Amino acid sequence: MRLEKIKLAGFKSFVDPTSVPFLSDLVGVVGPNGCGKSNVIDAVRWVMGESSAKMLRGESMADVIFNGSSSRKPVGMASIELLFDNGDGGVGGEYARFSQIAVKRQVSRDGQSVYFLNGARCRRRDVQDLFLGTGLGPRSYAIIEQGTISRLIEARPEELRLFLEEAAGISKYKERRRETETR
Ligand code: ATP
Ligand code: MG
Repeated sequence: MRLEKIKLAGFKSFVDPTSVPFLSDLVGVVGPNGCGKSNVIDAVRWVMGESSAKMLRGESMADVIFNGSSSRKPVGMASIELLFDNGDGGVGGEYARFSQIAVKRQVSRDGQSVYFLNGARCRRRDVQDLFLGTGLGPRSYAIIEQGTISRLIEARPEELRLFLEEAAGISKYKERRRETETR
């Protein structure tokens, strides 16, 4: 499974609909300070269900919506879509048969988020379920930021175990068990 494209609209500095293609396995994003490089990573994390505004470098969830500039008015909604090539069936379950998987999240100023998988409305949980055990996911090891390596080195054994469980693909089953037990 590979991320092919990110479509952004109304998200942080990306007010106009923008499509960012990832044409090869190694892509560098370069640009001056403040041009929006980190916002692209925030976008990926956000679609995967990140619910902490702090993790997205904001104070409230509505901070992901374009809030205006000297020449543009704020907009009312942010939308991000991630397009994955799933030709290798890397994402399992009922989605393994799809060669392309589109995951979309939208939020309006009232703070309500809606999620879509291949165009069909779904729950946040469905998006999280899809990526659990793949190493992707908002807080997973697919996104290594400044400070992540030292956090890993300094992690307590219980925290380190969570990363190992995700890499081994068993976090999905632990999550299901936890849900069953709390029902
Ligand atoms: P650096 O090289 O310093 O890490 P960067 O390219 O990673 O910079 P980002 O942090 O992605 O930059 O982008 C910061 C820019 O995004 C700032 O100019 C900020 O004003 C803008 N921005 C963030 N949130 C919003 C928002 N809700 N509406 C409009 N602009 C926003
Ligand atoms: Mg940055």
